Amino acid sequence: MDIFKALEEYDYEQLIFMNDKETGLKAITCIHDTTLGPGLGGSRYWTYEKEEEAILDAMRLAKGMTYKNAASGLPIGGAKTVILKNPDKEVNKEAMFRAFGRFVEGLNGRYITAADVGTTEIEMDYIYQETNYVAGTGLKPGTSGNPSPSTAHGVYVGMKAAANKAFGSPSLEGKRILIEGVGKVGYILAEKAITEGAHVIAADLFEEPRKRARDLGCQIVASDDLFSVQADIYAPCALGATVNDDSLEQIKAAGIKVIAGAANNQLKEARHGDKLEEMGLIYAPDYIINSGGVIQVADEFNGGYNEARARMSIDRVYDQIEKVFAIAERDGIPSYKAADILAEERIAAVRGTRSIFNPHTKSILNR
Ligand code: NAD
Repeated sequence: MDIFKALEEYDYEQLIFMNDKETGLKAITCIHDTTLGPGLGGSRYWTYEKEEEAILDAMRLAKGMTYKNAASGLPIGGAKTVILKNPDKEVNKEAMFRAFGRFVEGLNGRYITAADVGTTEIEMDYIYQETNYVAGTGLKPGTSGNPSPSTAHGVYVGMKAAANKAFGSPSLEGKRILIEGVGKVGYILAEKAITEGAHVIAADLFEEPRKRARDLGCQIVASDDLFSVQADIYAPCALGATVNDDSLEQIKAAGIKVIAGAANNQLKEARHGDKLEEMGLIYAPDYIINSGGVIQVADEFNGGYNEARARMSIDRVYDQIEKVFAIAERDGIPSYKAADILAEERIAAVRGTRSIFNPHTKSILNR
């Protein structure tokens, strides 16, 4: 693999390899872009067949974080870590994650880590023993806790922006909203929509979440027969890739005009985003509409979490979704492409200010 060529092609800043023989730590942190602020992105603990796969994963995910953080209006950049898991070797997790924390501390705030696939609050607590540059630890004063209610609030306001574009009003009153997956995010979204007077139709694989949704006042539909009901808005809040060749026609036949939900990577492939545009559906790009959780986490670095301040930022998901639609219209492109352009234009604009000398450049870490 030609590493520098890969770094140059997509404007990566830094790729860091960490090795600690004592604890067995082998980790790669990729910092993609810190124009807007320190790189924030989780640490994935995962088994890779080849080292190259781990490097590529760190790079791909770090770039994704740059776009998510930028398009969400956050003053932070994008980064990510992968920690290589050896399935054949027992490790002492406390020692290993503390070793990683020491490396993070050495980056002196260029990188802030958080939980991701294979890591939880427990690993973040270990890391916190060695560095403050970690989010999502329960031990830190001013920690923000479970991000799901914030994610749900962001999806709710983003859905209203999408409804405004499709129906000429942000009100969800009387709208039929189909929520796929009523777990941590979907349930709170259902609650908010019902409070506003929407008719919510919910699906879930399991009886317990279905029962909770039924008790809330949702109509229940079988998850393998999701689009048998008529709805105005489809909110994917379970798994990704639900907008695909099989579902597109069903989505249309169900009368759905808006797709606005929490799941990551909702479009199976980019071409499905093009197809939505051709079909005249309004799609609120997933990585912007589901950014409430990361906005909450970033707020911890403003001198400790402040719920009211974080809520104000999450309310702006509405504006960010509107900006995406405006760019899509301006450039005649589908909204999923416009989301990337929103991120790129913001980074380019802020990069322009870097030519002005300032000895005490502010970052969200030292405000
Ligand atoms: P969750 O696991 O709490 O809830 C998901 C629910 O979907 C579960 O109740 C599950 O039974 C159900 N489900 C799974 N497959 C289904 C299917 N095929 N049909 C119907 N229901 C199905 O997860 P969550 O935290 O609510 O997150 C929901 C989605 O949003 C995920 O894709 C997640 O990656 C994404 N997301 C979550 C957050 C957050 O803060 N929790 C942030 C950003 C993105």
